Amino acid sequence: MRYEAPTSTKDAVGLLSKAKGKGQVLAGGSDLLVRLKGGFIEPDLIVDIKRIPAMQGVTKTASGFKIGAAVSCAQLGENAALKKAWPGVVEAANLIGSDQIQSRCTVVGNLCNASPAADSVPAMVAAKAKAVVVGPKGKRTIPVENVVAGPGKTALKAGELIESITLPARKGKTGDAYLRFIPRTEMDIAVCSAGVNLTLGRGGVVTDARVALGAVAPTVVLVPAAAKAIIGTKLDDVALAALAAACEAACNPIDDKRGTVEFRTEVAGVLAKRAAKIAYQRAGG
Ligand SMILES: Cc1cc2nc3c(=O)[nH]c(=O)nc-3n(C[C@H](O)[C@H](O)[C@H](O)COP(=O)(O)OP(=O)(O)OC[C@H]3O[C@@H](n4cnc5c(N)ncnc54)[C@H](O)[C@@H]3O)c2cc1C
Repeated sequence: MRYEAPTSTKDAVGLLSKAKGKGQVLAGGSDLLVRLKGGFIEPDLIVDIKRIPAMQGVTKTASGFKIGAAVSCAQLGENAALKKAWPGVVEAANLIGSDQIQSRCTVVGNLCNASPAADSVPAMVAAKAKAVVVGPKGKRTIPVENVVAGPGKTALKAGELIESITLPARKGKTGDAYLRFIPRTEMDIAVCSAGVNLTLGRGGVVTDARVALGAVAPTVVLVPAAAKAIIGTKLDDVALAALAAACEAACNPIDDKRGTVEFRTEVAGVLAKRAAKIAYQRAGG
């Protein structure tokens, strides 16, 4: 197995494209090393991206925020401007693992590991986050919800990797929130989860919303019907009940010892309602 630590995205793409067998990108390694040490994967090449300047730092731009693919989740929590604009995305990222994991793990690794229960993904999908993908044929920007193709599978093509994640700029009264259910108080994988992002207009009426659910289907689910249920309302009980019903209808979970289909479906609706209330309050409603 060859280990490389290139200092540019171009070199990283070059290495991945020319790799004879399967190449793997190494960000924080908190998923990759577990799979490697467990003998689940045996890559011929590992490309460490942590020395690439374009993948470092959180940048505030006119169009929003750019988060480098090598930025740890702990660094996201230390960025006051990002936390103010996107508290739900940051709280989701900061739920991952422990302090030790936080100092290593990245939201891009969380996304590309492609677990249906990945904590940062529903929050990023609700936030309309995009992934900047670089590969042998150049750069393309795709919605985060299009990155994951199924459990453990991404839609990235051979030689491609994600350079950064972008989040849109915030205008007016906005708020987002992420909640998950786990049987323990921390260090566990979501049994189900919900991310809600909304904008308020005059009189506290919801003018725009996005709702995403985690761990209730093979990939994170964006639920337009749930957003529709609260747009045009002041998030009254009727609207919240309609939101929960739309979320329940969008669930297609597995049945296992951590949660039955019925449990995951019902709790997804409950979490979406609670997350919507927090997002509404954060937006000043
Ligand atoms: C003790 C422990 C607790 C955990 N708790 C949680 C939790 O509460 N919630 C949760 O969601 N997860 C949890 N995880 C899983 C893991 O920590 C997260 O998924 C983390 O965000 C992965 O990020 P990473 O940077 O470490 O990824 P890595 O392990 O470096 O990479 C993960 C995968 O993504 C690929 N990849 C990484 N970066 C890129 C890129 N730029 N472009 C293309 N592909 C890329 C890698 O090749 C690999 O396949 C936990 C793990 C451990 C060990």
